[in-house]
Amino acid sequence: MSLDTELAARAAALDAADDLAQLRERFLLPPDVVYLDGNSLGALPAAVPPVLAEVLHRQWGTDLIRSWNEHAWWQAPLRVGDAVGRLIGAAPGQVVVGDSTSVQLFNALSAAVRLRPGRPLLVVDRDHFPTDRYLAASVARLHALELRALPAAELAAELAAQGERVAAVLAAPVDYRTGRLTDPAALTAAAHRAGALVVWDLCHAAGALPVDLDALGADLAVGCGYKFLCGGPGAPAFLYVAHRHQAGFDHPLTGWNGHADPFEPTAEYHPAQGIARARIGTPPMLSLLALEAALTVFDGVDLTRLRAKSLSLTGFLLDCADVLLAAHGFTTVTPREPERRGSQVALRHPEAYALVQALTARGVIGDMRAPDLLRFGVNALHVSHAEVLRAMTTLREIVCAGAHRPYLTGQRSVVT
Ligand SMILES: *Cc1c(COP(=O)(O)O)cnc(C)c1O
Repeated sequence: MSLDTELAARAAALDAADDLAQLRERFLLPPDVVYLDGNSLGALPAAVPPVLAEVLHRQWGTDLIRSWNEHAWWQAPLRVGDAVGRLIGAAPGQVVVGDSTSVQLFNALSAAVRLRPGRPLLVVDRDHFPTDRYLAASVARLHALELRALPAAELAAELAAQGERVAAVLAAPVDYRTGRLTDPAALTAAAHRAGALVVWDLCHAAGALPVDLDALGADLAVGCGYKFLCGGPGAPAFLYVAHRHQAGFDHPLTGWNGHADPFEPTAEYHPAQGIARARIGTPPMLSLLALEAALTVFDGVDLTRLRAKSLSLTGFLLDCADVLLAAHGFTTVTPREPERRGSQVALRHPEAYALVQALTARGVIGDMRAPDLLRFGVNALHVSHAEVLRAMTTLREIVCAGAHRPYLTGQRSVVT
């Protein structure tokens, strides 16, 4: 058997044995497209369009303002929060949904700093997603703290060395570029030994792999609604505040929705009890209800099983890259060990941008991160091994034929 035939046989066998394969029907994906960018914008769940039509025409169009009561719009941020909570190991009453991840990062970091007054340091993963670093810097300035940006591997040692000087640390279990997964337990424990709080950014973890915030003893966490949670472009983000921190949670944005009695407001702000104090203003209801419908793609899905399939897909992708692409200037960046891998694979090639453009033109959608990473995310709810193989063989065809050359020069798209 040729290597290609061997890979095709392996893909067929793995897909035939895949007991999650029928979950693909829960998505409306265009035919003939291999979608490996669900880590940037999750695919459209089939449950969303009918719910949005109902929300638009009946709820907004007909029932108008009554919908706040009759369709429980008012309760949606906490109700959808609990639905997200089920995917991240959070018991009910600890998650609120609304606003962007950037805004929720600001809220979580500010509140964490206020929960640890008198401590002069804020620590952040140096290689974190830019918005996370920028917001950490702003929160540090607002509170006159020193910001320490360090490689992820050095965060625990910094906590041990600085001890009670650290107010909070911001980190992510999954690196957004390389897909490297770090066990959040070790850093959580190191922070707690120092008496500091950890803010976890779950953007590339929520819905992609089991996260057990309560069991972890996590303090605060945020994450994105439009990546693996499939809530649609600009879907609201989530904020987790552990029960034990809620009474002391001093929200930097004291909007009326977080007041103890939003419809009988007092002259001064009095926060609501529980996670409701993490509400701010009127939420983006259409997006929030789209996210609620989207989350039904996880109904009855065992996240451990989903994780096993995701690892099978990313492992197979790495094998395909070894066999098909190593001779053509590609190197793999994502760790080989399953326990160190999120749900995406990054390949390095100096012509990454042009290659991704050429792939997209052939119906294989991934993305790139400057300067030289090709990123392939797998949402195991709908991706198959055959698709992974098609992506890698298409990439080899492109590079062998030089079909990406036209994209090497000229104007790049705004979003890469
Ligand atoms: C996607 C992502 C964000 C996005 O923030 P927005 O405010 O939604 O644009 C932030 N942080 C990380 C780590 C991400 O992966």
